[in-house]
This record gives sequence, C-alpha cells and structure tokens, in this order.
Amino acid sequence: MRVVIAGAGFGGLELATLLSGAAPDEVDVVLIDKADSFVFGYSKLDVMFGRTTLDAVRLPYAAIDKPAVRFVQETVTSIDPQARRLTTDAGEHQGDVLVIALGADYDLAATPGLAEYGDEFYSVAGAERLTTAVGSFSGGRIVIGVCRAPYKCPPAPSETALLLHDTLSARGVRGDCEIEIVMPLPAPVPPSPDTSAALLAAFAEREIRYTPGHAVTSLREGIAVLDDGSERPFELFLGVPVHRAPDVVIASGMTTDGYIPVSSQTLETAWPGVYAFGDVATVGVPKAGTFSEGAARVVAASLLATIQGGEQPAPYDGRASCWIEFGGGRVGRVDIDFLSGPAKTGTLREPSAALVIEKAHFGSSRRSRWFGL
Ligand SMILES: Cc1cc2nc3c(=O)[nH]c(=O)nc-3n(C[C@H](O)[C@H](O)[C@H](O)COP(=O)(O)OP(=O)(O)OC[C@H]3O[C@@H](n4cnc5c(N)ncnc54)[C@H](O)[C@@H]3O)c2cc1C
Repeated sequence: MRVVIAGAGFGGLELATLLSGAAPDEVDVVLIDKADSFVFGYSKLDVMFGRTTLDAVRLPYAAIDKPAVRFVQETVTSIDPQARRLTTDAGEHQGDVLVIALGADYDLAATPGLAEYGDEFYSVAGAERLTTAVGSFSGGRIVIGVCRAPYKCPPAPSETALLLHDTLSARGVRGDCEIEIVMPLPAPVPPSPDTSAALLAAFAEREIRYTPGHAVTSLREGIAVLDDGSERPFELFLGVPVHRAPDVVIASGMTTDGYIPVSSQTLETAWPGVYAFGDVATVGVPKAGTFSEGAARVVAASLLATIQGGEQPAPYDGRASCWIEFGGGRVGRVDIDFLSGPAKTGTLREPSAALVIEKAHFGSSRRSRWFGL
C-alpha cells in the first residue's frame, strides 16, 4: 500500500512511524514537508523565554531512517483528492491512500496592524524574534492577545503569562510591569473547570489581568483594539494570530468553514482513501499535537487492518493529555476527553515538579521514536 502523507508534524510523524514499525514489507510511505526540521509547539515558549535555543530544539528530518519511509523536503502546491495525488514544487506523488496532515497556518493580515505594531509568538520565527524583546523588557504594559478562536493549544496564552511573570520577577522588574491576557474563550481551558480555576487562581496571585470572551481585532501603534471597541495600551504585544488551513488546502476545495471536515470516528474525508487529521481538519477536538497524534494512531490501525486483514479499530476517542506550565518550576497536566463520553471532560493533575519530568519524557520519547535521536 502506497501511503502519501502531506505534513511531517505531530500527526504525520506518528502515522509514518506506526506504519513502518508494523508493516515495513507491506507499505511504501512518502512523508512530505516543506521544512527541514520539526519543532514541538511548546519549544516555541522555551525559545521565547530564553530557556533554550532554536538549534537545540530543532529535530532534523534528515535523521529519519525508517524501513519503508522516504522523507522528501518539498512544498505541496496542489491537492487532487479525487485522484489521491499531490503536486509539489518537485513533482507529483500518487497514493493508494492520501493523508492530509498539513496543520494550520497563520493569517496575520486578518488582524490589521498586527504585523506592523505587534508581535506573534506562535511561529518558530516569531518566538525566536521575541527572545530579545522579552528578555530585555524592563517596564510597561504587556498584552497577550488572541485574535480569534479556534487556535492551537488553548492553554498556551495562559502559560505565556505565568512564564512572563517569572522572567520579569527574576530580573527584579515585575513591579514595573503589567500583564494582561485577552482571549475569546470564556475560560482558560473551557472543558476543564478545575484547570481553569487553578489558572485563574495563579493569575490572581500574580496580579495578571484576565479578560475572557474577547478577541483582539486590530492594532494601532501601542494600542490593541478589542472586539467590543475597548482599547488596551501596550509596550509589548504578544499575539496569537488568526489561524486557517494552509492556502493549498483551501485551494483544493476540500474545506468547509476553513478546515477539512472529517469523520470524527475514522478521520476519513468525503473522498475515498483520503484522510485528514490534526489542526488542518475539523475533528471535533482541540488543535493540539497530542490530539493529532491520537488521531494518527486510529488511521494507522485502520490501514494496518486493511493490509493485514484484522479488525477495524475502535472509533477515535478524542482523548489526550496536555502539560501546562504553571510557572515557579511547576507543570500541571490536563487529561481531556472530547469524544468518548456524552460530555467533554477535562481533569487536572495538580502542578508539580514531577510533571516537569513527565513533560520532558513526553518530548524525548517522541524525539527518539520519530527521529531516532
Ligand atoms: C506556543 C505553542 C505551544 C504549544 N504547546 C503544545 C503542547 O504543549 N502540547 C500539544 O499537544 N500541542 C501544543 N501546541 C500545538 C501543536 O504544536 C499543534 O497543534 C500541532 O503541531 C498540530 O499537529 P499537526 O500534525 O496537525 O500539524 P503540524 O505539527 O503543524 O505539522 C504540519 C506540517 O505541515 C507542513 N506544511 C504546511 N504546509 C505545507 C506545504 N504546503 N507543503 C509541505 N509541507 C507543509 C509544516 O511545515 C508542518 O511541519 C502548541 C502550539 C504553539 C504555537
């Protein structure tokens, strides 16, 4: 079975690894990405806060050495779901199975003034650019502003505020700074009231202002404008830009409301033999790497059942864990279940130093399984 995977992020890497491990003689996997390396989403915060360097967290695709998997660094320029064919800047790839795992892109232009007067920390380049501004900030107002939902890793703006508090405190300038978070969600982590309560308590203890239920719609010099017309002056604006599927996905005609609709149970699209999951799809789960990885596992099990004649897997359960930086050297964990029960649930494991180690293990285990590093 020839499986063409567009996008070597959380989902694409997991799927390629599972197929190679279980059926190296029965699959022929082409894994395509325009980048030369993978960076965990949370590493962007580590880079922005100067806890590490980009070189230290970049995982080069050249390291991938798996039976039956060929990585190619190419940019996908068009997708033909009917023919299960991709065109790239270097040629064409035709699959028995086509998998779209291209993630979500950012649309800075959707927020007038963001590019000119603010900064974003959601791209690798944006986070790296901010290292100096964050590391040398010595007084004034910092607004962490989300421009629209849905956005990747809903806890990330909250983590950013808590880590900012720590870094400004360590430099002795916290008393000269104000921190505010503006986000369109009604709570920091809506499916988990206890996680939201713990984050709100952490904000209150640190005098971090929290404005839920609002998005930042435009920026002028030193001013962020919210969707109710109110204004927030700032000296530093850390933005979460509007997200959307990559242009090539929208141009393929596969999207509805900006993303690819799929079966939440099987991750199949409307086209036979074409799957989509992760941030590029509307799966019914949050946009986070651990969800993309979980969806990839279901697709892998389904393809392996087809190849090897076993039972089709149970439907995707929408369960995943997210580790949340609480500051002060502690990490919490929220275990989320979006699809397996009648209601969405999220359970907090209290922030601790032990969970710092668990989060590090999560990263190093993927690094070793996906890259052999
Ligand atoms: C600051 C921040 C913190 C985060 N923290 C966490 C966290 O703690 N836990 C967590 O689970 N998630 C976290 N996330 C979210 C996580 O990074 C994403 O949700 C996850 O990477 C999505 O996985 P994916 O497989 O859908 O796509 P991605 O991992 O985004 O991969 C998509 C790939 O497609 C490639 N691509 C795109 N367009 C093209 C094209 N035209 N041609 C070729 N290749 C292309 C890209 O280069 C990319 O490698 C965080 C995100 C951010 C920004």
